[in-house]
Amino acid sequence: MTEVWTQRLKTMADARGACKICGERADAYAEVIVRGRHPSQLFSCNSCGFVFIDPVYWLEEAYAAPETSLDVGSVSRNLDVAELLARLLGKVTTRSDLFVDFGGAHGLLVRLMRDKGYHFHLYEPVAANLFATFCVADQKAFPAYRALTAIEVFEHLPDPRRSVSEMLEWSRCIIFTTELCPEERPKPSNWWYFALEEGQHVSFFTQKSLQVLAGRLSLSYSSLGGSWHVLAPRGDPISMIEATTLRARSVSFVGLPLTRFVRCARRAWGGMTRTQQRESLTLRDHVQASSIVLDQLRGQQTARHLDEAMKQAL
Ligand SMILES: [Zn+2]
Repeated sequence: MTEVWTQRLKTMADARGACKICGERADAYAEVIVRGRHPSQLFSCNSCGFVFIDPVYWLEEAYAAPETSLDVGSVSRNLDVAELLARLLGKVTTRSDLFVDFGGAHGLLVRLMRDKGYHFHLYEPVAANLFATFCVADQKAFPAYRALTAIEVFEHLPDPRRSVSEMLEWSRCIIFTTELCPEERPKPSNWWYFALEEGQHVSFFTQKSLQVLAGRLSLSYSSLGGSWHVLAPRGDPISMIEATTLRARSVSFVGLPLTRFVRCARRAWGGMTRTQQRESLTLRDHVQASSIVLDQLRGQQTARHLDEAMKQAL
């Protein structure tokens, strides 16, 4: 019997489970084929509506190339997310506050936010850091992070409670995006966000599931409209970010086909004034990076000279 069929039978026998958010009963309601060849099932929680794929056993394969070739909107998305984040953070944080972008892939958002004057650092366990080489998050080296951003990360989490607890070690304020699961639990073929051909999306939240998650972590949950959400301590200014303004303006567009994406983004932000300006960190970062690179080169040179001196001495 092939491994695939072994997994399939295991899945079929396990048609009931516990919700990964609230712990209540979750039932399997549809079979799925992930990445064209991995059978699994969609579960839906009877209490909070959280939907998840289980079992998940293909992630190593799915992340072999961290940024899927199907995500053609990643650059546009980062540009737009940076605009909105600057708008959100400008009024409720200080110029010296530190931020960490959790699961920030190649660091493009970190670079864009630093260009706008926000002290962002990157935490990324999988993808190569291409744009934020000298801006890596470090809990020991830096004081507490004012907020953590997780852009299109939550739907990737096979164990959301554990991962969110890990995020809270960085900051108690989490600003994140994820598409909300439709109220009628969606069939595999009826919701693009399952992205079964990629196999990286495995958790799908409802507002109720996010409220339950917040309650369990002694945080408040607020929706900023569309796919934007905040988990933060009650009373923290970040938990009260211009929700009413953003609710009126923000739309859900992350992952839309390119043409619709552009139309929606223009409609949402076309009339916005730019956020209050902060002095860009770009030049400062360049000077710092140059200094580090020079030190490394000098170090290599010194090491080479030492090596040659040792050879001559021998
Ligand atoms: Zn639940």
